[in-house]
Amino acid sequence: MNQPVRRLGMFGGAFDPPHRAHVALAQAAVGQLQLDQLRIFPTGNAWHKSRALTPAEHRLAMARLAFAAIPEAEVDDREIRRTGPTYTLETLRELHAEFPQAELFLVMGADQARAFTGWRDWQAIAQLATLAVAGRDGPAEGGGQHFGLPSEARIQPLQLPLMDDSATGIRVRLAAGQDAGAPLPAGVAGYIAAHYLYLPT
Ligand code: ATP
Repeated sequence: MNQPVRRLGMFGGAFDPPHRAHVALAQAAVGQLQLDQLRIFPTGNAWHKSRALTPAEHRLAMARLAFAAIPEAEVDDREIRRTGPTYTLETLRELHAEFPQAELFLVMGADQARAFTGWRDWQAIAQLATLAVAGRDGPAEGGGQHFGLPSEARIQPLQLPLMDDSATGIRVRLAAGQDAGAPLPAGVAGYIAAHYLYLPT
């Protein structure tokens, strides 16, 4: 029989592609928050306005490969299946309805935390979930352990060694014909090669 889910994490991202820091952040969240389950949500294609994302099926497949080593992690495709823009509140409410007894944690890096009050419905999100935040810019970043978040938010800082990996940096290296190297999990690197993704233009 499955154990009841009492502590449930939600970790969303474009994951274009997923990389080492995403996996490390997920591992830190599961361990430090003692999560029974961490749901990973690759965003729908409509979500990112500033550039065209790699098709959702590829990002979904790469996320499944990247997070496969974490038994508590489960890649969830519901944000990709939604047709309109996807909003975190909607997903959180669905999780709350599915797991009414569970305490909810929203996992993110500090860059997302700093943008949080720009999110649609952030007050309602902050009521439903504790924000679990990992630093991304080193000790010099503003806001200390609060990451510039409003006082009504419940915040749980996550300890994560600073990692300067970013999907942007990986895309730039691959598009220049360079090897992305260690930041790319091996399974993801194989998938990218097999599907001719991020090719030099
Ligand atoms: P891009 O470079 O395309 O913006 P990204 O590397 O920031 O991508 P996302 O998919 O946008 O990756 O991020 C998903 C989540 O992972 C976000 O909450 C982000 O803050 C967090 N994250 C990504 N990279 C790191 C990192 N190096 N350290 C800590 N958190 C990270």
